[in-house]
Amino acid sequence: MANPRPLVAGNWKMNGLKASARTLGEIIAGYDAELRDRVDLLVCPPATLLLAFAAAVNDAPVAIGGQDCHAEPSGAFTGDLAAEMLADAGASAVIVGHSERRIYHGESDADVRKKALAARRAGLTPIVCIGETREERDSGRTLEVVGRQLDGSLPDDATGENLVVAYEPVWAIGTGLTPTVADVAEVHAFIRERLVARYGEEGAAIRILYGGSVKPANAKELLAVANVDGALVGGASLAAADFLGIAAAY
Ligand code: PGA
Repeated sequence: MANPRPLVAGNWKMNGLKASARTLGEIIAGYDAELRDRVDLLVCPPATLLLAFAAAVNDAPVAIGGQDCHAEPSGAFTGDLAAEMLADAGASAVIVGHSERRIYHGESDADVRKKALAARRAGLTPIVCIGETREERDSGRTLEVVGRQLDGSLPDDATGENLVVAYEPVWAIGTGLTPTVADVAEVHAFIRERLVARYGEEGAAIRILYGGSVKPANAKELLAVANVDGALVGGASLAAADFLGIAAAY
C-alpha cells in the first residue's frame, strides 16, 4: 500500500482572536498548487473562531478542526462542546487526548477513546494524541506507555479515513527539544506495527503525525523519517510563514 498522504495540522491551543483571520488568509494564500499536490493542511483554532474560519476558508482546500470535544452529543455539560457542534461550525476534524487535556483535565485513555468515537459519530476525523513524559522516557518505558495509550485510546474498526494518530512526546511540546531521528523512527515504527496488528491493511493507511517543537528548521529531518505521515504543530503554526515552511518540507 502506498504511503498515506501527508497532513500538516496546526494546533493553535488557547491563542487567537478575530484578527487572527489574517493569519488564516496568509495560510490559504500560501497554500499554492505545488504544496496542495504534496500535503493536506488543517488549522485547529480555538472554538470561538471556528465559524469565522470555516467561512473564511470557503472553497479553499484548507481544513478546519477543533481541539477537543465532549463524548456526549448534547446535555448539561457547562462549558463543553459536542463533536456535533464542532461539525456544525465547519470543522472536519478534532484533536482528542492532547497531553495538555490529559494533564490539566485529567483525561484518561478511556475518556479519549469516547471522545474519538464521539468525533466519528459526528463525522469528524479524530486526531488521537499519545506520548510519553520525560520521566517515562528516561526510565526506558516509552514503548510500553505508547502501546498502552494506543490500546486504550483508539476506537475499534479504525481506518485510514476515520483516524489520525499523533505521537507527541510530552517533554518535546513547547520546549524546543525534539527526540533524535532514530528515536522518532523507533516509536513510529512501533505505532505502525500496532496499528497493522489491530486494523490489518487499514492500519497501514492511518496517518501517524509527529508533534513536539516542529519548526521549519527541523521539519525536513523529522518528516523524512519512515512512518512519519505529517506533523502536529503548536507554536510554529501561529505564524503563516512558519506553518507553510513546515508543509514545504514535503
Ligand atoms: P509545539 O506543540 O509545536 O508548540 O511543541 C505541539 C503540540 O502541542 O501539538
